[in-house]
Order: sequence, then C-alpha cells, then structure tokens
Amino acid sequence: MRIDVLTIFPEVFEPYASTSMLGRARERGILDFRTHNLREWTHDRHHTTDDEPYGGGAGQLMLAEPIFEALDDLQGVPAMDGTFATTIFFTPTGRPFDQRLAEELAQQRQLIMVCGRYEGIDERAYSRADLCISLGDYVLTGGELAALTVTDALCRLLPGVLGNAASAADESFSTGLLEYPQYTRPAELRGLKVPDVLLSGNHAEIAKWRREQALERTQRLRPDLLGENF
Ligand code: SAM
Repeated sequence: MRIDVLTIFPEVFEPYASTSMLGRARERGILDFRTHNLREWTHDRHHTTDDEPYGGGAGQLMLAEPIFEALDDLQGVPAMDGTFATTIFFTPTGRPFDQRLAEELAQQRQLIMVCGRYEGIDERAYSRADLCISLGDYVLTGGELAALTVTDALCRLLPGVLGNAASAADESFSTGLLEYPQYTRPAELRGLKVPDVLLSGNHAEIAKWRREQALERTQRLRPDLLGENF
C-alpha cells in the first residue's frame, strides 16, 4: 500500500513511521509511506499556507489553493488497474474512525491524507475529499496525529506485517468484542495468579474461557458494541 501525507509539518512523521511495525513494513516494501510539504505548492516568498477567515472570527484558515495544486499532482495518475488514490481529509466533522473503517481502508491501493492545521481548512478544499475522518469527539491541533493513527491501525492489517496473522483477527473490535485478558510470565506475581485454565494446556477450554471473558468484558465496559447480535 502507498500512503502520501500532505502536511505543513512533514518532520513530525519520520520518527514514528520509521520505528517498530511501521518501520518494518516500509523496509519490507509492504508500506510505501511518503510525506509532502504543502509549502512546496505555494508561490509567494513566505510560502504562505493560511489566511484570515472571511466573515471574521478567531485564528487562521488553511488556503484551499495550495491543497488543490498539491492534489492535482498527487491524485493525478491512475494505477495499472485504472483506479485512483482515495483522498482523506482529517477533520472533527468527519466519519468517526473505527476498526471497520481501518479494514476498509486496508483494502485500498493508495491513500492520500490531508492534514489540517490552524482553525481548519477553507471549505472549498473538501470538494477534493473522497472521505473525511474524525479520530473522535475532541479537537487536536493538527491532522498529523490522525494521519499517523490511521496509518498505524491499517498497517497492522496489511498481509505480512504482523508476525502472526491471527493476532489481528483476534484483537479488540475485529471480533465485535473487546479482547479477553492476557497474561505472560511469571505465573504468580505479588499474589496475583494467572487463571489456572491458561496453564492447563487444554486448548478447547482456553478458547472457551477467552470467549466468555471477551463477552463479559464487552458487556461490562462497552455494551454499545454488542448491539442486537448477542
Ligand atoms: N475549527 C475546527 C473545528 O472546530 O472543527 C478544528 C480545527 S483543528 C484545531 C485543526 C486541524 O486538526 C483540523 O483541520 C484537522 O485536520 C485536525 N483535527 C483536529 N481534531 C481532529 C479530530 N478529532 N479528528 C481528525 N482530525 C482532527
């Protein structure tokens, strides 16, 4: 998968995107992750990317024009199969990001991610969005953390990224449930014991216990996830 991020702060991406799972996915050629400085598509001496909002109000807004020009370049070329990249804008007014959306996006060949800053972006730029995504009901300073979060969540769904493909299938939300409790060594720590069933070696019993625990935990912590299916 290829991901192109449009941002005025490209330098914030590299430390995270070259570490651990994302770094390995890039080294193996599974993820082609590129950042682009929006200022490269400005034409004035100061590389201006923002201006005051019409009608007044606090703060600055990102200009639509450099975004249009950047997307003219980044969106332009179809792949061999004729498909174009999917362009995502990050905004608190977008579709809430969840595991289902991560699974949908992990099927795409190329994503272009546009990161807002300041008080947001001139509304006209959104005419170039295929999808607007919100990380949640709170306001971040910029879309960069949203771009990294979405990249991270869908990278672990790409074939060959996780050591064990079953790990993603088993995780919270993939099954519709929160994940069951997990333990590692030692079997007893400060009086806290690992449940006997996990030490039993009985795989059928372990699978049953995990299913029950996942259900109980979801009912207790996130009953909204159960909906009408349970
Ligand atoms: N004035 C905007 C509003 O009230 O909706 C908020 C602008 S925010 C300070 C600047 C940028 O951060 C946004 O353009 C967006 O790219 C990003 N951002 C902030 N909160 C976000 C969220 N919850 N999800 C996704 N992106 C967010």
